[in-house]
Amino acid sequence: MQKEKVGDVFIYPICIPTPFAVGDVFCYLINDEKNVLVDTGHYAPNSLSVLEEELEKYGVAVRDLDEIWLTHGHPDHYGQAAGLADQSGAVIYGHPKERANFAANNDGELFKAFFDRHRIPSELTTKMIEQLEWLQQYQQPIEPEWITAGDRLSSGSINVDVHLTPGHAPGHLAFVTNGDVIFSGDLLLGHISTNALINFDADSGERNKSLLQYRTSLQWIKKQQGVVLPGHGKKIRDINEVASHHLSEHQKRYQKIQQLLEQQPMSLMELSNTMFPDPIKEGAIFLVLSEVLGYLDWGIEEGTIYLDETTMEYRTVTE
Ligand SMILES: [Zn+2]
Repeated sequence: MQKEKVGDVFIYPICIPTPFAVGDVFCYLINDEKNVLVDTGHYAPNSLSVLEEELEKYGVAVRDLDEIWLTHGHPDHYGQAAGLADQSGAVIYGHPKERANFAANNDGELFKAFFDRHRIPSELTTKMIEQLEWLQQYQQPIEPEWITAGDRLSSGSINVDVHLTPGHAPGHLAFVTNGDVIFSGDLLLGHISTNALINFDADSGERNKSLLQYRTSLQWIKKQQGVVLPGHGKKIRDINEVASHHLSEHQKRYQKIQQLLEQQPMSLMELSNTMFPDPIKEGAIFLVLSEVLGYLDWGIEEGTIYLDETTMEYRTVTE
């Protein structure tokens, strides 16, 4: 990816390979009066050495970092922030709704209770809990300075407005510069659709309706002008087109779920097996459940679907 310019200031993309299915993560260096790193890469020796080499190309060492701005608390985006801040004294900023993620708390008990309630087979629940635990090695807990929607961060001539864009993660942020560059984290990726993952509110412990939140965030970014620098994949100039594509894909799948439920009531697991059998076989059970649940939340919100609590089956509402 090429560097981007805002006024006289360069923004340098830094590509870090990860052990995760999503592939490389992009962090960004803003090299002005302050050295700011937007997202950090995961916690691992090779992740740190790649970051050091990349920073060095621009004459910056880790100890020179002044601030770290985090889009969200997933390991590939914040995992090595603690170590970087230790070395440099950099101030870390993030949103308080990511508190559980930033504390490297994987909400394992909330997830287990949710899966049990929905009668997910125990071997699949075990697998998902193992996947959550596996992630732990790639992150170190942090206590950032909290920022929220409407706040402003800056480095020299670059000012960014902080926007709360939940869905993929409950306190996901996008940073919009005065030069129409948008750091979008995992809100908008060109090549793949982001998953609105099952997650829980850090204050109440209630499950968020993450797909509905994510669609609101997509509607917001769809209207933005400029260039998106995403957390994964190429920069995006046709923001409206990419966001519209994801929104219409959701719509199609939502209709498919409605049609299935019109034929017969189904549980979360039955719908998941019917909609996405192959990804489940390949181990992506958590992503599949997250996605299907999103459409069910949507139907409940619209009043077309309800959950029969005795059988834990979803049904369409008939007049
Ligand atoms: Zn993420």
